[in-house]
Amino acid sequence: MSDPRTAIVLFSGGQDSTACLAWALARYARVETVGFDYGQRHRIELDCRPVVRRELAAAFPHWADRLGDDHLLDLQLLGQISDTALTRERAIAFEANGLPNTFVPGRNLLFFSFAAALAYRRGASVLVGGMCETDYSGYPDCRDNTLKAMQVALSLGLDAPMVVETPLMWLSKAQTWALTQQLGGETLNQLIVEHTHTCYLGERGALHAWGHGCGHCPACALRRTGHQAWQAGRPNGT
Ligand code: ZN
Repeated sequence: MSDPRTAIVLFSGGQDSTACLAWALARYARVETVGFDYGQRHRIELDCRPVVRRELAAAFPHWADRLGDDHLLDLQLLGQISDTALTRERAIAFEANGLPNTFVPGRNLLFFSFAAALAYRRGASVLVGGMCETDYSGYPDCRDNTLKAMQVALSLGLDAPMVVETPLMWLSKAQTWALTQQLGGETLNQLIVEHTHTCYLGERGALHAWGHGCGHCPACALRRTGHQAWQAGRPNGT
């Protein structure tokens, strides 16, 4: 029995949002995806989105029946309020927390607002996002309480129930690999390894056990160590 509601997944083409997409496909009768084009340094992540959707549909026919439209929203205006735009002498650089200084404060609040407006139009009442408190603990707009408050604000502001689901909120990276293994077995995890993108430097490069990427930027390091921890914790390779 699946949940009859329609869910919209905030889908970037990375590991976490692909895990969220699989989680939603296993649960809801209809699932659509939304992505945001905000002038990312690298287009690779956006390019991965249709590939991941296509591969998921091909490998899991029962999910293909549930997978609905993809929406790519143009949020280039976020570039106008990024750090590099406001303080011209600053070049694009990585902060200590591993995020580029082009990061826009409160970005996830904007993403959820747009996703909710889209959901209202599409008759959807569930929004699914891959935010997580266990990495990047410095991100206030990824925290559970922020997103619970967002759920209340959106439901009131739209005068329609809008549930915000964050299935990865309390999972470590290793537990995220375990979740996708549980949802779609080796097929799903191999699909995530090969077709999702994480690297901040936009490198695809060689295919490592944990996926493509430079291997040493903060995003690659997180993904690599999470994958290694998951592999190390698997009894008899299950
Ligand atoms: Zn990298």
